[in-house]
Amino acid sequence: MMDRRPAVSFLPTTAVLELTYQCNHHCIFCSCPWENDTGSFVRQAEMTTAQWKAIITCLCGMGVTSFAFTGGEPLERNDLAEIVSHAAICQTEHIELIEGALVSRHAAPALYLLSNGRAVDETVLTMCQRHGVQLSLSLPGLETFEQHTGFDDADKVLQSFTEAKHHGLNTVANITVTKLNLDELGARDLCRVTGRCGSNSPESISPRWPRASFCGNVGIVSNRNRANAGYC
Ligand code: SF4
Repeated sequence: MMDRRPAVSFLPTTAVLELTYQCNHHCIFCSCPWENDTGSFVRQAEMTTAQWKAIITCLCGMGVTSFAFTGGEPLERNDLAEIVSHAAICQTEHIELIEGALVSRHAAPALYLLSNGRAVDETVLTMCQRHGVQLSLSLPGLETFEQHTGFDDADKVLQSFTEAKHHGLNTVANITVTKLNLDELGARDLCRVTGRCGSNSPESISPRWPRASFCGNVGIVSNRNRANAGYC
């Protein structure tokens, strides 16, 4: 049990780290501001490995207890494994309410990898297994996958769920709802298939980031999705 004391910082407990601008998909719903051709976002040099490690160490000291690695596509960074490994050996203070009392423990932060799944391979799965990383893969439809992403590789993502299950990983299917895939979701085919392939949370339906412009494709995002837009 711990004494009352001020919080270490005002920061939220989860930090989403956008490691790179690079991506190997061309999603029609992409919310990354740098993909908006009509936007004013100016790309700068990406942060180095050392800079990301220093940021993670600093955030752990400020009470952040969860890191989500994203992009762009985080697997486009050659140093992703090094950054994740660093986060996995950091220590942060987890404060939990247990039986009415605040309890403090120091442990590694929780780690999440948000990917489009295209470059997921044995090396990536082994890294996730080693560091207890939860793997979230984007699957915006089966029949409509190519329409959404520009690539016809839904089977690759499904296969990754299956292989992740063999590695004992916790997985989430990130399903961005659009007018194109509403029928698939309505029939719940998509959820059933991802569940069969090993996703622990096939019903996690993600509206992506609310700050987003959807790169001029906002009309394709369903009305319900827009109404419920919130942080994933
Ligand atoms: S939504 Fe994600 S996977 Fe799709 S283009 Fe944007 S960053 Fe890439």
